[in-house]
Amino acid sequence: MTRNSSQATRTSKAVYPVCLVHYHEVGLKGRNRSVFERKLKENIEKRLARLEHGHYDRVMRISGRLLVSFATWEEACRAAEPIAQVPGVVRVSIGLRTAQSLEAATDAALWLLNQTAPWVSFKVNARRANTDFPIDSMEINRRIGGLLVEAFPDRQVKMREPDRMVHVEMIEGSAFTYVQTVKGVGGLPVGSAGRVVSLLSAGLDSPVATFRMMRRGAQVTGLHFSGAPETTSTSEHLVREIVETLAPFGGLKRLAIVAFGSYQREIARAVPSELRVIFYRRLMFAVANRLALREGAKALVTGESLGQVASQTLDNILVVDAIAELPVLRPLIGTDKIEIIAEAHRLGTFEISSQSHDDCCTLFMPRNPETHAKLKVVEPIWAALPVGEWLSQIFDSLEIETF
Ligand code: ATP
Ligand code: MG
Repeated sequence: MTRNSSQATRTSKAVYPVCLVHYHEVGLKGRNRSVFERKLKENIEKRLARLEHGHYDRVMRISGRLLVSFATWEEACRAAEPIAQVPGVVRVSIGLRTAQSLEAATDAALWLLNQTAPWVSFKVNARRANTDFPIDSMEINRRIGGLLVEAFPDRQVKMREPDRMVHVEMIEGSAFTYVQTVKGVGGLPVGSAGRVVSLLSAGLDSPVATFRMMRRGAQVTGLHFSGAPETTSTSEHLVREIVETLAPFGGLKRLAIVAFGSYQREIARAVPSELRVIFYRRLMFAVANRLALREGAKALVTGESLGQVASQTLDNILVVDAIAELPVLRPLIGTDKIEIIAEAHRLGTFEISSQSHDDCCTLFMPRNPETHAKLKVVEPIWAALPVGEWLSQIFDSLEIETF
């Protein structure tokens, strides 16, 4: 903004509804920081483009924040929640952008306070991004506080736990005033961490694990194994629903589905029954590893949590991991089921994952699965299987669905 136009903003009467997007600056240094901000801006634009109603102006970078302007207050309110879901966003404040003066900010605060439920106490919390505004933040607090007390003589300033916190930020020639804030999902912008292949069942855990990776900035290709043709394809539909539910967070657009039933049948025939699950899982990991190389992904992801089921012991993890060349990430390894369930509820995947379905997990399950598999037992049996041929067959017909 030029000096002239910033002065124009200072004196103008214009009021714009805005969402002010806050992100953590901690740990973002040098070049990292501009990559982070650029990705976050792009991802917010993509998320806004998915909204059915509402018009917004370009997402703008202003000192330490991103700014989205709207034509109406209702549109700003409607957009805040979706913006808050974009990984990297810590908070979204819904407020008004006005001329950079105490009077304009006070008028904005009066209007905003009248939009909220009844309240008694308040506090003003001002921030000045740089010194181009001549009054420091303590003084802004005092003066706007005074003007608000004049306007609401029956209300009081309260320093600790006030009913309403009136935030005023003086940034780049404008005042941004807000009293309402939506908590963001946190994490890092999708696209800032590279790609992973996530083994995505229709169960409870892997959607949560997948989300955790998206939240840390990873782009994800989902990989699902259905029991087809030995079972119905219900699990495939549920996984697509899960992908659609997680997609608004950004970063999950690709899904590969493998009909796994016949390979399980072959394994069940050739392998001692207590080792079947280990072999199913090794084949899944072998497929995932090859898919990852094709997708340019740098790691695999599963929803395993230590000791949760027989296949999730340290011994079995070791034997299954040995087949993967890429690192296998397990974001839920130390998470309790009860915490995973709470997170699935928040994400909206719980309902989908709770629907009963056949998938390859329910197929040809042994009565007593091995809990302490040994590589020296597993490897010779594995070497005798036509794994190379299976992988070629699977990849010859593999299609990636995009969302
Ligand atoms: P989930 O709730 O994610 O299904 P789970 O508790 O049922 O996990 P397992 O069946 O041992 O546990 O699966 C462990 C992990 O292996 C899953 O979290 C997922 O990452 C992967 N996995 C299991 N089944 C499938 C499948 N049918 N398709 C893709 N990945 C799978
Ligand atoms: Mg499962």
